[in-house]
Amino acid sequence: MNEEYNITAFSTALFSTWINIEELPLLLDAGDGISSGLLQKARKVKHVFISHSDRDHMNGLHQFIQLNARKDFPVIHYPKDSTSFPAMAKFLSNFDPHTKDVNWEAIQDGDILKIKKGIEVLAFRNEHIAVPNGIHKSLCYKIYETKTKLKSEYKNLNSDRIVEIAAQKGSGYISDVVKNNIVGYSGDTPVDNYEKWNQTNVLIHESTFIQGNQIEPVSKHVGKHSSLEEVMQMVSEIEIQKLILTHFSARYSKKYIDDSIRKLSKSLKIQVPIYAVYPGEIVRDILKKNPVNY
Ligand SMILES: [Zn+2]
Repeated sequence: MNEEYNITAFSTALFSTWINIEELPLLLDAGDGISSGLLQKARKVKHVFISHSDRDHMNGLHQFIQLNARKDFPVIHYPKDSTSFPAMAKFLSNFDPHTKDVNWEAIQDGDILKIKKGIEVLAFRNEHIAVPNGIHKSLCYKIYETKTKLKSEYKNLNSDRIVEIAAQKGSGYISDVVKNNIVGYSGDTPVDNYEKWNQTNVLIHESTFIQGNQIEPVSKHVGKHSSLEEVMQMVSEIEIQKLILTHFSARYSKKYIDDSIRKLSKSLKIQVPIYAVYPGEIVRDILKKNPVNY
């Protein structure tokens, strides 16, 4: 099912992160270079979900909104207690008055947003920014798809008969509603609770560093991040279908990243395909690439 999703991303720690899922159509984060990277495809985007206000995750909004503002879209969803977003909205509505009708929607931990038929996005807190509970500054996102599926006992009936039964007894009688977590996006975060990503089809997770335990921040000015080692350990203990690694530090070469992924994938016996968004590179339609670990 997810092979159908065209996911294109740029993500380098400190510089810029944006991820486009063309079919939904949405952006996860909005760092520098979205508009020049996506060109006309950026116009299709209806919803933007920003994980937090670090500049590398939001600085592409200016040009993106300037070029694509139209009635009701795009909707910019942002963590409720980040004051950067209202400040930017105010600035843009003066600087580019035609953008003043853009929807800026403050969201918080636990919010569920229906973005189109059968597609919902759940926002939930992560621990990148040390703030008390109840303050919403850094979010992860999970995208859910709801589908109705014919109950197995009716699978062998012909379609006329199915329509007939549905008309008599209601569609709920012959089908079940199935809800799947099709995509998970970590934003910037330390690895903590493994369970939150269990049963995610495509997990897009940051791995700023290759080695070590990142649960303590590098300095008090820098938020908490994840290492490849920690992400891979988690993935070896939960059930997902595909892993896309993002937000590597620019200090790492492509070869070093690939070698590290292969080594850990082997030692932890990870079977799921792993894809990487390398520093400084836009990766287009990433799920169609060869996985690093196969
Ligand atoms: Zn970042």
